[in-house]
Amino acid sequence: MKSTFKSIYLKPKKERAVLNRHPWVFSGAVGKLDAGLKIGDPVVVRDHAGNFLAVGHWRGADGLVCRLVCFDQDRVVDDAFFVQRFFDAKKLRTGLGLPSAQTTGYRLLNGEGDGLPGLVCDLYETTACIRSSNPGLLPVIPKLCDFLASHCACRDIYFDNSDEKVSSWLIGGEHRCEFLENGLRFLADISDGQKTGHFLDQRYNRSLVGEFSSGRTVLDAFSYSGGFSVYALRGEAKRVMSVDISANAVELCRINVRNNGFAGGNDAEVADCFDYLRQIKKGDYDLIILDPPAFAKTTHAVPQAARGYKDINLNAMKAVRKGGFLFTFSCSQHVDTDLFKKIIFAAAKDSGRDVNIIAELSQGFDHPVSVYCPQSHYLKGMGLYVR
Ligand code: SAH
Repeated sequence: MKSTFKSIYLKPKKERAVLNRHPWVFSGAVGKLDAGLKIGDPVVVRDHAGNFLAVGHWRGADGLVCRLVCFDQDRVVDDAFFVQRFFDAKKLRTGLGLPSAQTTGYRLLNGEGDGLPGLVCDLYETTACIRSSNPGLLPVIPKLCDFLASHCACRDIYFDNSDEKVSSWLIGGEHRCEFLENGLRFLADISDGQKTGHFLDQRYNRSLVGEFSSGRTVLDAFSYSGGFSVYALRGEAKRVMSVDISANAVELCRINVRNNGFAGGNDAEVADCFDYLRQIKKGDYDLIILDPPAFAKTTHAVPQAARGYKDINLNAMKAVRKGGFLFTFSCSQHVDTDLFKKIIFAAAKDSGRDVNIIAELSQGFDHPVSVYCPQSHYLKGMGLYVR
């Protein structure tokens, strides 16, 4: 089977990342390729001398040209290979106790972290939302749908082909669906919302913030559908302000707060958080959450993203009440933990406040990180105590 795949040959001394099992090949590493290679084709990646290195899928000639799925010459990469990865991923979630009576929304497939580069699948009770940026995995989507129906009791399946910017319901279809997260009710907006409808990666961090909220005045900046807000309200926050630039997000936030019976304690506003954070007064809030979108979508965007992160963190640090808390996040895969810490350091220094790190946070356990692909650790967070 593998012998029928075409090959790409890396330039001399460009094989190290692949030998280290990193699943991405960039155009600069590629020396030559077999004629007739088409986007999405499976390929064997070889060193310049023709020795086998890995099997992956061709994405086209620019940038990230190939995503790798197998580093073992003796494994056959066919449908059964991918179905096995679905079972492996499901086994991890079962081991994590997901789903449970309290939590029915979780990530089943997390791309590189589950050996399925570029493929994500989130489950909300009986609704699945699949997102793919790997054309090579398109042929296995029907197998994934069978798996979801047979082993995860899915009845509705949405597919977002983010590579080609097309998305549609493959089976069934309700654009909003309800699910539970740690006993709280949420609506995921599958077809009109952001990402797969809900940011499941913050589940554990939301629980933590809930525990810090009692009696506090909380600002949930970049709130989307109010994930952090609802937990803070359950944690008996005195008042919670949710701010997002998207009217659809703020509407969802109001619904989620109301559905959990907390409408009395919440204000939700459509605003630009850069402006909002600049105009709040010192002492307005005891606890601030900053969970912005990925400011750096490419490595070129990192310097500007760093300025954006510094700006919001500086203003939040200046404003939070003495003895208050700041929970701050970055979900840019191009901003690593070291850089994020440097940004927080620079903001703290300029704010003139005394800042201590009390927690280092990451994405939820159902978003596993491949040790071979540090970029799959995309969500970094810190809990800060500000005096
Ligand atoms: N904290 C959320 C996830 C936030 S995702 C949760 O727990 O679910 C990032 C959010 O930032 C998105 O909802 C997006 O609409 C919003 N956003 C992007 N730019 C913004 C800006 N300049 N001001 C306010 N919100 C912004």
